[in-house]
Amino acid sequence: MALRREPHVLVVGGSDSSGGAGIARDIETISAVGVRTCLAVTALTVQTHEAVKKLHHSPPSLVADQMRAALQANEVAAIKIGMLATAEIIAAVAAVLRENPQVPAVLDPVLASTSGRALLEAGAIAAMKRDLVPLCCLVTPNLIELALLIGAEQAVDEDEAVWQGQELLAAGAQAILIKGGHAKGLRSTDILLRSGQEPIRFDAPRLAVSMRGTGCMLASAIAAHLANASPLEESVRRGKLFVFEKLETDRTN
Ligand code: PLP
Repeated sequence: MALRREPHVLVVGGSDSSGGAGIARDIETISAVGVRTCLAVTALTVQTHEAVKKLHHSPPSLVADQMRAALQANEVAAIKIGMLATAEIIAAVAAVLRENPQVPAVLDPVLASTSGRALLEAGAIAAMKRDLVPLCCLVTPNLIELALLIGAEQAVDEDEAVWQGQELLAAGAQAILIKGGHAKGLRSTDILLRSGQEPIRFDAPRLAVSMRGTGCMLASAIAAHLANASPLEESVRRGKLFVFEKLETDRTN
Protein backbone atom coordinates (compact mmCIF):
# COMPACT_ATOMS: atom_id res chain seq x y z
CA MET A 1 0.00 0.00 0.00
CA ALA A 2 1.14 3.53 -0.72
CA LEU A 3 2.54 5.93 1.86
CA ARG A 4 -0.21 7.65 3.92
CA ARG A 5 0.41 11.31 3.25
CA GLU A 6 -1.41 13.07 6.13
CA PRO A 7 1.04 14.15 8.86
CA HIS A 8 1.48 11.58 11.61
CA VAL A 9 3.21 11.63 14.98
CA LEU A 10 5.23 8.49 15.62
CA VAL A 11 4.69 7.64 19.29
CA VAL A 12 7.58 5.71 20.89
CA GLY A 13 6.77 4.60 24.43
CA GLY A 14 5.30 2.14 26.88
CA SER A 15 1.74 0.95 27.41
CA ASP A 16 0.00 1.52 30.74
CA SER A 17 -2.86 -0.88 31.44
CA SER A 18 -4.62 1.68 33.66
CA GLY A 19 -4.86 4.10 30.72
CA GLY A 20 -3.59 6.95 32.90
CA ALA A 21 -0.27 7.48 31.13
CA GLY A 22 1.93 6.13 28.35
CA ILE A 23 0.89 5.51 24.78
CA ALA A 24 -2.88 5.51 25.48
CA ARG A 25 -2.58 9.10 26.73
CA ASP A 26 -0.31 10.00 23.83
CA ILE A 27 -2.73 8.71 21.18
CA GLU A 28 -5.71 10.35 22.91
CA THR A 29 -3.89 13.70 23.01
CA ILE A 30 -2.50 13.68 19.49
CA SER A 31 -5.91 12.66 18.10
CA ALA A 32 -7.56 15.50 20.05
CA VAL A 33 -5.22 17.94 18.28
CA GLY A 34 -6.36 16.38 15.01
CA VAL A 35 -3.18 14.57 14.01
CA ARG A 36 -2.84 10.87 13.22
CA THR A 37 -0.52 8.52 15.11
CA CYS A 38 1.63 5.49 14.44
CA LEU A 39 3.45 3.45 17.06
CA ALA A 40 6.59 1.80 18.36
CA VAL A 41 5.96 0.07 21.71
CA THR A 42 8.99 -0.04 23.99
CA ALA A 43 7.45 -1.78 26.99
CA LEU A 44 4.27 -3.36 28.34
CA THR A 45 3.41 -2.37 31.88
CA VAL A 46 0.86 -3.72 34.33
CA GLN A 47 -0.42 -0.73 36.28
CA THR A 48 -3.29 0.56 38.33
CA HIS A 49 -3.54 4.27 39.10
CA GLU A 50 -1.73 3.59 42.37
CA ALA A 51 1.11 1.24 41.43
CA VAL A 52 3.28 -0.21 38.67
CA LYS A 53 3.02 -3.98 39.21
CA LYS A 54 4.99 -5.45 36.30
CA LEU A 55 7.23 -4.28 33.46
CA HIS A 56 8.12 -6.15 30.29
CA HIS A 57 10.59 -4.55 27.86
CA SER A 58 10.45 -4.95 24.09
CA PRO A 59 13.61 -6.29 22.43
CA PRO A 60 15.55 -3.21 21.17
CA SER A 61 15.62 -4.45 17.56
CA LEU A 62 11.83 -4.79 17.63
CA VAL A 63 11.53 -1.15 18.74
CA ALA A 64 13.77 0.00 15.87
CA ASP A 65 11.87 -2.21 13.40
CA GLN A 66 8.51 -0.79 14.53
CA MET A 67 9.86 2.76 14.09
CA ARG A 68 11.25 2.02 10.62
CA ALA A 69 7.99 0.39 9.51
CA ALA A 70 5.95 3.31 10.87
CA LEU A 71 8.22 5.76 9.01
CA GLN A 72 7.94 3.73 5.84
CA ALA A 73 4.15 3.47 5.99
CA ASN A 74 3.32 7.09 6.85
CA GLU A 75 4.30 10.70 6.44
CA VAL A 76 5.82 11.02 9.92
CA ALA A 77 6.06 14.75 10.66
CA ALA A 78 7.15 14.45 14.31
CA ILE A 79 8.26 11.79 16.79
CA LYS A 80 7.21 11.74 20.46
CA ILE A 81 9.39 9.66 22.77
CA GLY A 82 8.33 8.57 26.26
CA MET A 83 9.28 5.52 28.35
CA LEU A 84 12.42 3.82 27.02
CA ALA A 85 13.13 1.31 29.80
CA THR A 86 16.74 0.31 28.96
CA ALA A 87 20.02 1.69 27.57
CA GLU A 88 19.75 -0.78 24.67
CA ILE A 89 16.34 0.59 23.67
CA ILE A 90 17.77 4.13 23.90
CA ALA A 91 20.54 3.10 21.48
CA ALA A 92 18.02 1.54 19.07
CA VAL A 93 15.81 4.66 19.07
CA ALA A 94 18.86 6.92 18.63
CA ALA A 95 19.93 4.89 15.58
CA VAL A 96 16.55 5.42 13.89
CA LEU A 97 16.58 9.14 14.74
CA ARG A 98 20.01 9.43 13.11
CA GLU A 99 18.57 7.84 9.95
CA ASN A 100 15.76 10.44 9.91
CA PRO A 101 17.33 13.77 10.93
CA GLN A 102 14.62 15.77 9.13
CA VAL A 103 11.88 14.59 11.52
CA PRO A 104 11.64 16.66 14.75
CA ALA A 105 11.64 14.51 17.90
CA VAL A 106 10.28 15.52 21.32
CA LEU A 107 11.73 13.58 24.25
CA ASP A 108 9.84 13.30 27.54
CA PRO A 109 12.64 11.84 29.69
CA VAL A 110 10.48 9.41 31.66
CA LEU A 111 12.55 8.09 34.55
CA ALA A 112 9.97 6.95 37.14
CA SER A 113 6.25 6.78 37.78
CA THR A 114 4.59 9.15 40.24
CA SER A 115 4.22 6.11 42.50
CA GLY A 116 8.03 5.81 42.53
CA ARG A 117 8.77 2.81 40.30
CA ALA A 118 11.75 3.23 37.95
CA LEU A 119 10.66 3.23 34.31
CA LEU A 120 14.24 3.58 33.05
CA GLU A 121 16.87 1.19 34.37
CA ALA A 122 19.55 2.57 36.66
CA GLY A 123 22.61 3.59 34.70
CA ALA A 124 20.72 4.40 31.48
CA ILE A 125 20.32 8.12 32.26
CA ALA A 126 23.87 8.79 31.06
CA ALA A 127 23.10 7.04 27.74
CA MET A 128 19.94 9.09 27.37
CA LYS A 129 21.85 12.32 27.93
CA ARG A 130 24.77 11.41 25.69
CA ASP A 131 23.11 9.52 22.82
CA LEU A 132 19.51 10.69 22.61
CA VAL A 133 19.13 14.21 24.03
CA PRO A 134 21.27 15.88 21.29
CA LEU A 135 19.14 14.27 18.56
CA CYS A 136 15.87 15.74 19.84
CA CYS A 137 14.52 19.20 18.98
CA LEU A 138 13.02 19.44 22.48
CA VAL A 139 13.48 17.66 25.82
CA THR A 140 10.76 18.15 28.47
CA PRO A 141 12.13 17.28 31.94
CA ASN A 142 10.39 18.14 35.19
CA LEU A 143 12.59 19.57 37.95
CA ILE A 144 13.56 16.12 39.27
CA GLU A 145 14.33 14.67 35.84
CA LEU A 146 16.43 17.72 34.97
CA ALA A 147 18.51 17.34 38.13
CA LEU A 148 19.05 13.62 37.45
CA LEU A 149 19.99 14.27 33.81
CA ILE A 150 22.75 16.66 34.77
CA GLY A 151 23.84 14.58 37.75
CA ALA A 152 22.93 17.24 40.32
CA GLU A 153 22.41 16.26 43.93
CA GLN A 154 18.85 17.49 44.10
CA ALA A 155 16.03 19.24 42.30
CA VAL A 156 16.05 23.01 42.79
CA ASP A 157 13.47 25.77 42.41
CA GLU A 158 12.47 27.13 39.02
CA ASP A 159 14.98 29.96 38.86
CA GLU A 160 17.95 27.77 39.73
CA ALA A 161 16.63 25.16 37.33
CA VAL A 162 17.43 27.59 34.50
CA TRP A 163 21.12 27.12 35.40
CA GLN A 164 20.70 23.36 35.38
CA GLY A 165 18.96 23.67 32.01
CA GLN A 166 21.91 25.68 30.66
CA GLU A 167 24.14 22.75 31.63
CA LEU A 168 21.98 20.38 29.59
CA LEU A 169 22.18 22.79 26.64
CA ALA A 170 25.96 22.83 27.02
CA ALA A 171 25.87 19.01 26.93
CA GLY A 172 24.25 19.14 23.48
CA ALA A 173 20.49 19.59 23.99
CA GLN A 174 18.86 21.74 21.29
CA ALA A 175 16.00 23.07 23.44
CA ILE A 176 14.62 22.25 26.87
CA LEU A 177 11.21 22.85 28.36
CA ILE A 178 11.60 22.74 32.14
CA LYS A 179 8.25 21.72 33.60
CA GLY A 180 7.38 23.41 36.87
CA GLY A 181 4.05 21.60 37.21
CA HIS A 182 5.11 19.71 40.33
CA ALA A 183 6.62 22.76 42.03
CA LYS A 184 4.66 24.76 44.58
CA GLY A 185 3.01 28.16 44.13
CA LEU A 186 -0.11 29.65 42.63
CA ARG A 187 1.08 29.45 39.04
CA SER A 188 2.43 26.55 37.03
CA THR A 189 5.35 27.84 34.99
CA ASP A 190 7.27 26.00 32.29
CA ILE A 191 10.49 27.55 30.94
CA LEU A 192 11.74 27.13 27.37
CA LEU A 193 15.52 27.35 27.03
CA ARG A 194 17.44 27.56 23.78
CA SER A 195 21.09 28.28 23.24
CA GLY A 196 21.84 31.97 22.82
CA GLN A 197 18.20 32.97 23.42
CA GLU A 198 16.44 34.46 26.41
CA PRO A 199 14.37 31.94 28.40
CA ILE A 200 10.66 32.08 27.61
CA ARG A 201 8.18 31.46 30.44
CA PHE A 202 4.80 29.82 29.87
CA ASP A 203 2.49 30.43 32.72
CA ALA A 204 -0.91 29.06 33.75
CA PRO A 205 -2.91 29.16 36.98
CA ARG A 206 -2.24 26.09 39.12
CA LEU A 207 -5.43 24.04 39.35
CA ALA A 208 -6.32 22.02 42.41
CA VAL A 209 -6.49 18.71 40.56
CA SER A 210 -4.07 15.88 40.13
CA MET A 211 -4.16 13.88 36.94
CA ARG A 212 -1.79 11.15 35.81
CA GLY A 213 -0.05 11.34 32.46
CA THR A 214 0.17 15.13 32.21
CA GLY A 215 3.82 14.87 31.11
CA CYS A 216 2.80 12.46 28.33
CA MET A 217 0.02 14.85 27.33
CA LEU A 218 2.23 17.93 27.17
CA ALA A 219 4.97 16.33 25.05
CA SER A 220 2.37 14.69 22.79
CA ALA A 221 0.42 17.92 22.24
CA ILE A 222 3.68 19.76 21.41
CA ALA A 223 4.68 17.00 18.96
CA ALA A 224 1.23 17.13 17.33
CA HIS A 225 1.53 20.88 16.78
CA LEU A 226 5.06 20.47 15.40
CA ALA A 227 3.63 17.85 13.01
CA ASN A 228 1.10 20.50 11.92
CA ALA A 229 4.07 22.72 11.05
CA SER A 230 3.75 25.15 13.99
CA PRO A 231 7.12 26.56 15.11
CA LEU A 232 8.57 25.31 18.40
CA GLU A 233 7.56 28.23 20.62
CA GLU A 234 3.99 28.22 19.27
CA SER A 235 3.78 24.43 19.66
CA VAL A 236 4.84 24.73 23.31
CA ARG A 237 2.29 27.50 23.95
CA ARG A 238 -0.50 25.43 22.43
CA GLY A 239 0.64 22.26 24.18
CA LYS A 240 0.58 23.97 27.57
CA LEU A 241 -2.90 25.35 26.85
CA PHE A 242 -4.08 21.86 25.88
CA VAL A 243 -3.00 20.42 29.25
CA PHE A 244 -4.49 23.36 31.18
CA GLU A 245 -7.84 22.94 29.42
CA LYS A 246 -7.82 19.19 30.02
CA LEU A 247 -7.13 19.70 33.74
CA GLU A 248 -9.86 22.32 33.93
CA THR A 249 -12.40 20.02 32.26
CA ASP A 250 -11.42 17.28 34.68
CA ARG A 251 -11.88 19.62 37.64
CA THR A 252 -15.34 20.73 36.59
CA ASN A 253 -16.61 17.23 35.75
N1 PLP B 1 3.69 4.38 32.59
C1 PLP B 1 4.12 4.74 31.41
C2 PLP B 1 4.11 3.74 30.30
C3 PLP B 1 4.56 6.05 31.20
O1 PLP B 1 5.01 6.44 29.99
C4 PLP B 1 4.55 6.98 32.27
C5 PLP B 1 4.99 8.36 32.11
O2 PLP B 1 5.30 8.83 31.06
C6 PLP B 1 4.09 6.54 33.51
C7 PLP B 1 3.67 5.23 33.63
C8 PLP B 1 4.09 7.41 34.71
O3 PLP B 1 2.95 8.17 34.75
P1 PLP B 1 2.55 8.84 36.11
O4 PLP B 1 3.70 9.66 36.52
O5 PLP B 1 1.35 9.65 35.77
O6 PLP B 1 2.28 7.73 37.06
